[in-house]
Amino acid sequence: ALVVRNRMRNSGKWAPVAAVVKELEERCATPVGKLRQVADAMTVEMHAGLASEGGSKLKMLISYVDNLPTGDETGLFYALDLGGTNFRVLRVQLGGKEGRVAKHEFEEVSIPPHLMVGGSDELFDFIASALAKFVASEGEDFHLPVGRQRELGFTFSFPVRQVSIASGTLIKWTKGFNIDGTVGEDVVAELTRAMERQGLDMRVSALVNDTIGTLAGGRYYDNDVVAAVILGTGTNAAYVERAHAIPKWHGLLPKSGEMVINMEWGNFRSSHLPTTDYDQALDNESLNPGEQIFEKLISGMYLGEILRRVLLRLAKEASFFGDSVPPKLEVPFILRTPVMSTMHHDTSPDLKVVGTKLNEVLGIPDTSLKTRKVVIQVCDIVAKRGARLAAAGIVGVLKKIGRDNAVKDGGRTVIAMDGGLYEHYTIFSECLQCTLKEMLGDEASSSVVVKLASDGSGIGAALLAASHSQYLQPVLS
Ligand code: BGC
Ligand code: MG
Repeated sequence: ALVVRNRMRNSGKWAPVAAVVKELEERCATPVGKLRQVADAMTVEMHAGLASEGGSKLKMLISYVDNLPTGDETGLFYALDLGGTNFRVLRVQLGGKEGRVAKHEFEEVSIPPHLMVGGSDELFDFIASALAKFVASEGEDFHLPVGRQRELGFTFSFPVRQVSIASGTLIKWTKGFNIDGTVGEDVVAELTRAMERQGLDMRVSALVNDTIGTLAGGRYYDNDVVAAVILGTGTNAAYVERAHAIPKWHGLLPKSGEMVINMEWGNFRSSHLPTTDYDQALDNESLNPGEQIFEKLISGMYLGEILRRVLLRLAKEASFFGDSVPPKLEVPFILRTPVMSTMHHDTSPDLKVVGTKLNEVLGIPDTSLKTRKVVIQVCDIVAKRGARLAAAGIVGVLKKIGRDNAVKDGGRTVIAMDGGLYEHYTIFSECLQCTLKEMLGDEASSSVVVKLASDGSGIGAALLAASHSQYLQPVLS
């Protein structure tokens, strides 16, 4: 009788916790049938976005990249990569088929948070000044032919409506950026003016999204790369489309017959997406309500924040961390995805790492093992939903290009992948891989390769700057 009473008392304290977690688990469930619906919806929206401007939440942006790197690119080129937590500047000496990337150097600078929500000129002045300093440090082993202007590939990881390979207007900011006066402006003109203010003589030869840069960089090293996916602060995908399959494209048909499309899949949404009240509240309180719904379920900027919201509810409604609500738990975005990942990967028997992080980051000391286990459980639910949805997105793309079935000729379908979430959150990336297998089947998935191409977008942008250089002889045919 004593045992029974104890058990009841016990379940009395934990029952509300279990109820919240159970509800979360149910709402976040992604059985394979549901994932197939998501993948199909993705394919349908891809068609709609290609059919007409504004035809879908998926913008399916035309990149003006109709030729991917061949390996013949030569010369000195710079690249600038803006759009995550860091921005980087890079220079490469390209040596053609023989020399390849003969030499490259880069520098990474973190963006002061106030610049992400300040004025346009301040942001562009900051990056142009870092670029100017970097150019000034160019050594003897980089060669620019006399009389030539330096050229730059500009990786700008936000949705841009391009009008040519080297110009385009910002459609909207995403991921923590919210700067007045840039939306609707040509970001190349903005950067060019800022470079002039720095006295830097440089021409932007290619403006590319990070997905496009990753695709180009990926293709340079592997001919079977047909798509690129970013799973980092934000998320997105790009792929090679047949020009004939883009009804909204009214320009000349490219000689290659192909056009690279920046899907902007972060903005995908569908009634099939498993969402919760936490997601709803996160979206409402975000810088961009109603936008980037897929991104808010998947990407690194948001996973930790979803976890925080669940823990906060547990604290408030189930006294999960004791009688009072830990004040830090109320602070939006205080719980970053890298911390979530560290906790999630804790394999120590007493979940010591979870305990330490809860204390360090949220100021919650002395948690019980049982509490820590529940934290891991919530991490697992949130991360795996994201990973499985990302896999469903990839399957949607593979369907669109007819690569979701087993190939007889032994061909490969390679997806170049970049982003800290995929690179560092192992449980996430392993779950994504497993889900691809689950959805495609063993045979078809054996020809699909997800290849990590860390920071391939920098080299990719430099390669595209090279193939669109002002000094290239026009090819006569
Ligand atoms: C942006 C995309 C970008 C992605 C990954 C999203 O928020 O809209 O343009 O490719 O993040 O960086
Ligand atoms: Mg990046």
